[in-house]
Amino acid sequence: MKKVLIANRGEIAVRIIRACHELKLKTVAIFAKEDDLSVHRFKADEAYLVGAGKRPIEAYLDMDDIIRIAKQTGADAIHPGYGFLSENEAFAAKCQQAGITFIGPTAEQLAIFGDKIRAKEAALAAGLHTIPGSDGPVKSVAEVREFGQRHGFPVMVKAALGGGGRGMRIIRNAQEVAENFERARSEAQQSFGDDELYVEKYLENPKHIEVQILADQHGNVIHLFERDCSVQRRHQKVIEFAPSIVLSESRRQEICNAAVRLMKSVHYQNAGTVEFLVTAEDYYFIEVNPRVQVEHTVTEMITNVDIVQSQILIASGKNLHKDLKIPEQNQIFFHGCAIQCRVTTEDPENNFMPDTGKIETYRSPGGYGVRLDGGNAYTGSIITPYFDSLLVKACVSSRTFEGAVMKMNRVLNEFIIRGVKTNIPFMQNVLNHPVFKAGEAHTTFIDKTPELFV
Ligand code: ADP
Repeated sequence: MKKVLIANRGEIAVRIIRACHELKLKTVAIFAKEDDLSVHRFKADEAYLVGAGKRPIEAYLDMDDIIRIAKQTGADAIHPGYGFLSENEAFAAKCQQAGITFIGPTAEQLAIFGDKIRAKEAALAAGLHTIPGSDGPVKSVAEVREFGQRHGFPVMVKAALGGGGRGMRIIRNAQEVAENFERARSEAQQSFGDDELYVEKYLENPKHIEVQILADQHGNVIHLFERDCSVQRRHQKVIEFAPSIVLSESRRQEICNAAVRLMKSVHYQNAGTVEFLVTAEDYYFIEVNPRVQVEHTVTEMITNVDIVQSQILIASGKNLHKDLKIPEQNQIFFHGCAIQCRVTTEDPENNFMPDTGKIETYRSPGGYGVRLDGGNAYTGSIITPYFDSLLVKACVSSRTFEGAVMKMNRVLNEFIIRGVKTNIPFMQNVLNHPVFKAGEAHTTFIDKTPELFV
């Protein structure tokens, strides 16, 4: 592997370009017309317009044009980042047909985990606990009602191809089934082009715990411990940290080993995350994200393993232990605690509507134990309405969770961002809330805590 095309934009494109350059690989960026001033294109060795004439997001989804650029520039690998084409099995297959390495799992593995019903079947087959639910899709209101009556409400209907917290709805009683079923179905059709739904019990107050996996092409599968991503707004993550501060050591081992077992059972390759919902009683598999995640940073900070470099090296056939020099599982340890806040250009006073315009002033924090991953975060940057509103990921690490919370407070205070609204004041409210500080935040914490919004 000599040259990598990064099929993404923003902070993750910059993150990947940096990893490539550290590995002495050349980089090719692609950009939509609306992104012609985007930082990622200037960080790469070469950059090309993609999807000419298409709308902004569609440009980055233009598989044939991306492969054309890869071929013309002599790129021998493509890193898809997260979102966009990262979980698209057709794209992985097209890369393979073109003789280009797709930096990620195989098309078949993407197919399994892209369909949450198939993923749940794989998890069950590997002996993981799953949330009681329909075995397979539900086709009618009557089926969902019957499931609720048999297992008890509340239940949740979820899009089989869902992602990003969309296409899922809570149903609290039999009367609510019809409306929510139809809504979830139309949302699924609109967002994912497929209206297949399944139903499972709704867990009232779980924690979202996920396990980072690395797997090479030689059958070595390791975990890099867990992240707690319970602080969510509308089922989307806002603040993440590693490790969990409430899991017992034996529970941690059990969950991490279960994740490894599942990934081994499908002969997984590359980086992936196995997600669980954890209650006081048990832990339940929910899905696998077969790609790098936004919050991979906090795992890097506590384990010192560069996950993006690892992805690239794994895809070029290297061995986790012999080549990457990552120790055997029982010799991998984590140190301290890391927290990530997703700084977005969203206005907390206006229902988190994305804000746009020119950043008049941008001053970033720094100092010991601080890491910033940004895309277009600088004075003079124009924030457009076309893409997601993530501006910069602020990460800190410290010896303890308390220390990391204190540092993150300082870091958020040190930001000066004028010209666009951000969610910084909101995240400060979360960080200073006694429930968060006690490590007691569950997935419904934000939605159930109105004082965070003042
Ligand atoms: P997506 O792929 O859209 O991110 P997930 O299946 O990962 O969807 O779920 C996202 C979040 O939705 C979870 O972290 C959790 O907060 C909530 N969730 C999903 N399934 C359930 C469930 N059965 N009970 C309670 N909450 C759930």
